[in-house]
Amino acid sequence: MKTSDTAAETGANAAPEARPSNFIRDIILDDLTTNKYAGRVQTRFPPEPNGYLHIGHAKAICLDFGLADEFGGHTNLRFDDTNPEKEETEYVDSIMEDVKWLGFHWDGLFYASDYFDQLYEWALKLIRDGKAYVDDLSAEEIRKYRGTLTEPGKDSPHRDRSVEENLDLFQRMKAGEFPDGSRVLRAKIDMASPNLNMRDPVMYRILHAEHHRTGNKWCIYPMYDYAHGQSDSLEKVTHSMCTLEFEDHRPLYNWFIQQLGIFPSQQIEFDRLNLTHTLLSKRKLLQLVREGRVRGWDDPRMPTLSGIRRRGYPPEAIRNFCASIGVSKTTGSIELAMLEHFVREDLNKRALRVMAVLRPLKVVIDNYPENQVEQMDAVNNPEDAAAGSRKVPFSRVLYIEQDDFREVPPPKYFRLSPGKEVRLRYGYFITAKSVVKNDKGEVIEVHCTYDPATRGGNAPDGRKVKSTIHWVSAKHAVDAEVRVYENLFTKENLADLDEGKDPLDYLNPNSLEVVAHAKLEPSLANATPGSRFQFERLGYFCADSDFQPGVPVFNRTVALKDTWAKVEKKQGGKA
Ligand code: ATP
Ligand code: MG
Repeated sequence: MKTSDTAAETGANAAPEARPSNFIRDIILDDLTTNKYAGRVQTRFPPEPNGYLHIGHAKAICLDFGLADEFGGHTNLRFDDTNPEKEETEYVDSIMEDVKWLGFHWDGLFYASDYFDQLYEWALKLIRDGKAYVDDLSAEEIRKYRGTLTEPGKDSPHRDRSVEENLDLFQRMKAGEFPDGSRVLRAKIDMASPNLNMRDPVMYRILHAEHHRTGNKWCIYPMYDYAHGQSDSLEKVTHSMCTLEFEDHRPLYNWFIQQLGIFPSQQIEFDRLNLTHTLLSKRKLLQLVREGRVRGWDDPRMPTLSGIRRRGYPPEAIRNFCASIGVSKTTGSIELAMLEHFVREDLNKRALRVMAVLRPLKVVIDNYPENQVEQMDAVNNPEDAAAGSRKVPFSRVLYIEQDDFREVPPPKYFRLSPGKEVRLRYGYFITAKSVVKNDKGEVIEVHCTYDPATRGGNAPDGRKVKSTIHWVSAKHAVDAEVRVYENLFTKENLADLDEGKDPLDYLNPNSLEVVAHAKLEPSLANATPGSRFQFERLGYFCADSDFQPGVPVFNRTVALKDTWAKVEKKQGGKA
């Protein structure tokens, strides 16, 4: 795996041959050289609208759109809506929003249901050609007749029906004469094929269900395997990328295309993205939503694109991550820490720095004038001079983090403790003198003195302090709710579970911590939902969509500590 292959570094303007490649890109380059498709590159992204997109889909989207973009090609967004019972318009809308948010634009917008008439005509043709038949076996019987990997299947007793009888039955299936599950249309291929997908697969089933687009027009619906290849063909897709589990379906797609004599799309399979501590399955994510284990599809703990957007992940970071993980033919697992690394890398460049205290401890500067307020200059982003500076009010009573004070400091603790001097960021040097405790013996107030000569953070006599801490002026502080997230799952590899275990058995009970009364510097009072900040020394935070005037709500996007960078360093930059 390479980490140097980010979009910025690959250089959008470099000659195609000069860019770091992958096997799919190599196939396209080859096809362009041999003029296989008259120089065309047409791809598609084919989600089933049965849930919200997740970070795994981002990998597919970046490939489908990214490769077409690179070669001046086109990408369609096609909803594979062949399953009326599980699909909804809400999902269609969210998918479009997510693709746009990632930064991509589709050329054609299609639905597999646009092709229902054509697919039906093609089914009639296959019946007439003796390549398809109506079967009366039940689903259970079909499964039994199918055989196993080591044993061939058995022909259905209905396999040799006449063309006339098949045409009649199939048309009556369409006309609604038969109940759900009573008959199917099957391709007549080979019940002894070593590939189980070729053992007379089902093409149509009867389903008296309303479809989100075609309403009640149909009571037979094509199977995904019968619809997918032909949909690609109808759109003249040249490079149809999908995940490895469809490799064994490719011979079937090609079979339909050959029998029908239509445009031969080329399917190329790549490895699915798996992330540690993360569940990437719409079906399972739907369960989390339905059972109320999370606050919805866009809960910031969810790996959905709407969830990570709300959490504050920038689309650029996701694109860079996807470019970096590359594609291959072997399934592995990527560290969640690596995704977080790309989020930090991106936010470090553009997030404005601010001061916020999550667990406040009151500090009183006894020798600071009672009613004085000074406006201190604070740099907005040391990585970006153009971001400028702002004023932060300083006064006699401040909040600091509870963690930044110890009455009895452990060894190597350089932050505030009795008798120790520290720097207040953009403020003064202060020295702790005494504490006030509550009934339980907990420190609730630290009394300090400050050195007026150290304004801005430096001592004229050159004396040094070992620590700089952040603070917020108590009387100017904005009260806020801050939601701090941990991994949604405690188990690293959710694909490898013990017998009888379900991923939901490993939900992290501490994945959400609500800090009800964090103290923020006043500039954050009117942050726009979706805007991202670095709370100095704490991490990156994003104003949540629940944010309202007077009731600020922030999500912690990611903490500052970069475990991935450490791993990378250990591995000599070749993580
Ligand atoms: P899920 O199991 O989450 O429902 P899916 O494969 O059924 O995923 P689709 O809506 O059919 O979801 O996927 C649309 C496209 O996204 C397909 O081409 C699929 O191969 C790809 N895709 C889905 N999950 C991943 C993943 N984890 N990594 C890479 N590509 C993925
Ligand atoms: Mg699917």
